Amino acid sequence: MSTIVSHAAVPIALSACFPDRGLSPEAVQWGVVCSMIPDLDVIGFAFGVRYGDSWGHRGMTHSIFFAACLGALLTAVLPCTDRSWLVFLFLFLSTASHPLIDALTNGGLGVAFFAPFSKRRYFFAQRPLAVPPIGILAFFSAYGFYVLKSEIRWIWLPCGLVFGIAHALKGF
Ligand SMILES: [Zn+2]
Repeated sequence: MSTIVSHAAVPIALSACFPDRGLSPEAVQWGVVCSMIPDLDVIGFAFGVRYGDSWGHRGMTHSIFFAACLGALLTAVLPCTDRSWLVFLFLFLSTASHPLIDALTNGGLGVAFFAPFSKRRYFFAQRPLAVPPIGILAFFSAYGFYVLKSEIRWIWLPCGLVFGIAHALKGF
């Protein structure tokens, strides 16, 4: 995983690319939650699930299938909207952005994009993102600062750019 908070940058930037009134503030908030949910799989460590298992870290919850299921489920239970396909698309992309970012990190195992149909794990050819240390205290270290710089450069700056350009274009 990247730092959990950094995953939130993608749905925030993505929301600016959607039409005005297409997404409610609640839908955007759920998009932020969706971008973080895949890392709930780390709970499995406490129950003996191993990293490389199907339900291990970066396994099932990091798949495109999971993103589609979560998007569909939340679209169904969230308050009705006349543009539910837009909400689904947003929630799906928000969830799917998480494994895409993880596949850009330089540590851990790859991402099981195609679970449950394939156990194979993937990374992108270029992996510029520093993988965060595990544990809160580890963030307050030289390496934690290095991770932060990496995420600002490769997640927050591009997302900020997309957010700014999308809003500027809407202004015309
Ligand atoms: Zn992750």
